[in-house]
Amino acid sequence: MSNSTVAEFAAELKKSADTLLEQLRGAGVAKSASSDVLSESDKQKLLGYLQASHGTASAERKKITLVKKSTTEIKQADATGRARTIQVEVRKKRTFIKRDDEQGSSDVLAPEAEVAEVPAGPSAEDLELARREEEARRQAELIRRQEEELIEKRRQREEQEARERAAAERAAAYAAQTEAQQAGKAQAQQSELADQTAAREAAAKAQAEEREKLAAASKARAEEEAARAVDLGDRRRKAEAEAAAIRQMMATPKKVLVAKKPEEVKPVAKPAAADAAKAGMKGTLHKPAAGTTAARPAVAGANAAPGANKEVKSAKLSSSWADPAKKKPLPTRGDTGAGAGRGSWRGGPRGRRGNDRDHREDQQQQAPVENRVIEVHVPETITVAELAHKMAVKASEVIKHLMKLGQMVTINQPLDQDTAMIVVEEMGHKAVVAALDDPEAFTDEEVSAQAAESLPRAPVVTVMGHVDHGKTSLLDYIRRAKVASGEAGGITQHIGAYHVETPRGVISFLDTPGHEAFTAMRARGAQATDIVILVVAADDGVMPQTKEAIKHAKAAGVPIVVAINKIDKPDSNPERVKNELVIEDVIPEDFGGSSPFVAVSAKTGQGIDELLEQVLLQAEVLELKAPVDAMAKGLVIEARLDKGKGPVATVLVQSGTLKTGDIVLAGSTYGRVRAMLDENGKPTKEAGPSIPVEIQGLTEVPQAGDEFMVLPDERRAREIATYRAGKFRNTKLARQQAAKLENMFSDMAAGEVKTLPVIVKADVQGSQEALSASLLKLSTDEVKVQMVYAAVGAISESDINLAIASKAVVIGFNVRADAGARKLAENNGVDVHYYDIIYDAVDELKAAMAGMLAPEQREEVIGTAEIRTVFVASKIGTVAGSMITSGFVTRSARFRLLRENIVVYTGEIESLKRLKDDVREVREGFECGIKLKNYNDIQVNDQLEFFEIKEIARTL
Ligand code: GDP
Repeated sequence: MSNSTVAEFAAELKKSADTLLEQLRGAGVAKSASSDVLSESDKQKLLGYLQASHGTASAERKKITLVKKSTTEIKQADATGRARTIQVEVRKKRTFIKRDDEQGSSDVLAPEAEVAEVPAGPSAEDLELARREEEARRQAELIRRQEEELIEKRRQREEQEARERAAAERAAAYAAQTEAQQAGKAQAQQSELADQTAAREAAAKAQAEEREKLAAASKARAEEEAARAVDLGDRRRKAEAEAAAIRQMMATPKKVLVAKKPEEVKPVAKPAAADAAKAGMKGTLHKPAAGTTAARPAVAGANAAPGANKEVKSAKLSSSWADPAKKKPLPTRGDTGAGAGRGSWRGGPRGRRGNDRDHREDQQQQAPVENRVIEVHVPETITVAELAHKMAVKASEVIKHLMKLGQMVTINQPLDQDTAMIVVEEMGHKAVVAALDDPEAFTDEEVSAQAAESLPRAPVVTVMGHVDHGKTSLLDYIRRAKVASGEAGGITQHIGAYHVETPRGVISFLDTPGHEAFTAMRARGAQATDIVILVVAADDGVMPQTKEAIKHAKAAGVPIVVAINKIDKPDSNPERVKNELVIEDVIPEDFGGSSPFVAVSAKTGQGIDELLEQVLLQAEVLELKAPVDAMAKGLVIEARLDKGKGPVATVLVQSGTLKTGDIVLAGSTYGRVRAMLDENGKPTKEAGPSIPVEIQGLTEVPQAGDEFMVLPDERRAREIATYRAGKFRNTKLARQQAAKLENMFSDMAAGEVKTLPVIVKADVQGSQEALSASLLKLSTDEVKVQMVYAAVGAISESDINLAIASKAVVIGFNVRADAGARKLAENNGVDVHYYDIIYDAVDELKAAMAGMLAPEQREEVIGTAEIRTVFVASKIGTVAGSMITSGFVTRSARFRLLRENIVVYTGEIESLKRLKDDVREVREGFECGIKLKNYNDIQVNDQLEFFEIKEIARTL
């Protein structure tokens, strides 16, 4: 660029020469006259100076950036003549910079487009400045016009509104007038009203006229402006104006919302039961949207939506997050119905959903206040559905919590107690362990049992006493005399319990052998017996088992009726028995005690009626009662595995009535009662309290003494039975493990104590008990029989598994292993022995145990010798020249060195020689050289005693 004078450059920049000179001075360019020549470097300096000064002083204050976006619609008919709407979006970004110049508006430079037209000459910076200034000017103009347009629009709207109002008033007045006219004679009031309305009409008219004038004026102005806008030919600006207006609109609602939030939110949440927020989009849409329109009436219909939507969102947010606190006290949790009712077909579902969410949030928020902590009794197994029911929640909630715990479950899946309890606690309730027979766990049955009326029931009697005192005979007599009357020989079945009918009432007898069953039942907390008949032979008196029986009866708190038996015998001495019993604290009634004594003979039947009468008298005192019309509960008295019938159990119904077809849970087994036999072996349909029956249909053989109960639901029975079986086995194993450890310690303490673990499976309870007892009796100090498991039933796989785990021998008495068990046993080398005679089993076990005994080691002296000479060979050491005085000596024998009959040393022989030769054996009367191993201190006349250690197998 060529050099120019200051004046020329000033003209280029549209500045005065003086200003330029001043600026040049400021920039450090020494020019004093407008005619001075400016070099390119001078101009650069000036540019640098100006940039620096503008940049620092006022850049940020005087710079405005406008970003504009406008959307307009163009309606245009296409080739087919159909109207098409085309959306046009215009985006624009402009930056205005006001120059700090004393020349005011004249310093606004032309925009870039025009800059291009400016002839070359002024510097780039000045051009830019000029462009920006021009732009700013234009923008200022634009803004002014926009404002005017806005004002105009608003005015037009107001006028429109005024017109509408006036029209409405006129219409109202006209209506009133016509009404008045129709009424005929105008009443004073009506005329007054008419006057008023007329006056109002006049006023309104005047107002309207005034407004019309105003409107006309503003319209004219608007037209003028529009013309000007058209003149300018800039439709874009119009669009921009609109866009600016819209933007303003978009910006304003936020402010409105922030300002209005407290009032707006309250009416939404509080009075109408929070239904505006809950009822759905409709409600939520309307209120805030109305607020917006009120605050900013200039919203164009189409554009209202985004703004309003934003509002909806924030209103929702505020209602669901800020409000629960306010909503809480309202009892409107269940207003889903209202929500649905209010919602339109479209709004309804959404409303409900919104409602649900709110509801949930409510719940969460209110948890500490509203959630009732329920005490949930968790039985050993419970299905998801039942658990949910107990907690009063949906099953899906429970499933959800279980999923969180990493368990995928179905609604009908049974949960174990631990899992169920964790879920309960997780869900904020209190879990309580419900015992298996906890009423809570079986509420239904319990309720029905309680609901039924309790009626008197027959006493249940057990006969106890010393062996051979006549228990069996007595029971047999009663049975024969009372039960079998009319069907002699008909009793083929012996079911362990029966009932007799006497003129005074019914008595049930438990015909269980010995005291074991009684104690076994008592040990399980089950008490079947109401009264004990203590049989004492009059010729024998009180014996150990008599005492034992007394002890048991007293411990159980059961009244005793004493039967002094065998009084038909000539050597019977009832008085002695009486006295002996008094010593045992069984006081006869005639001695002021509580026990009736009856002298009987099981042989002749003497006194038996009286005995039964006494029993019934005792029963009356006890006032025995039980519900009849209820689900049965009771005890298993005996159980066995019948070859044809499968598991068979004799049960005593204690309460309720047992019917065929009932689902029974007995100990760890269950089943449907397929058939029921009474004590005479006759099929029967039902059994009431105190009546023993034999039932078939259980899946496994229960234990004598197990409690049974009828459950309404087979699945439940199976679950409990399975659980009990598992638990039983688990505890059994755990106990056994502990026992094994104990054994280890006791082994260490007591030297070698060996144990023989045994698993016994038998066909009936009696033989199982007998065999177990006999085997246990085999235990000695050195070898102990350890009864790992004893039960009735076939040998199953689980038995074999148990045997593998405990290294036990399996004994099957009249039972066999099933195919699976046999295979498992073979594969794992488990010893399974079958017997049908107890003594065989015992003998064989005895032999096995004998085999386990360490053989006895005995010393056997084989010979003696006397040391005659001691010589020392340099290579060998000291050698005893000996004479065998008795027996013989072998190379492998051991010796004792005796000096004056005192043992000095015990050891082994190293070598044995006759003359020079090694020999195996030297007999009595011969001389030999003996080298003792590790021992050289020998003297002449020392004695040597030779012995061998022999192992002798031992027997038990
Ligand atoms: P348990 O062991 O207590 O059951 O006694 P039992 O009923 O087996 O009887 C043992 C023995 O006593 C049997 O030989 C019976 O015959 C006999 N016995 C039982 N009761 C009487 C009785 O009242 N009079 C006589 N003389 N003998 C009896």
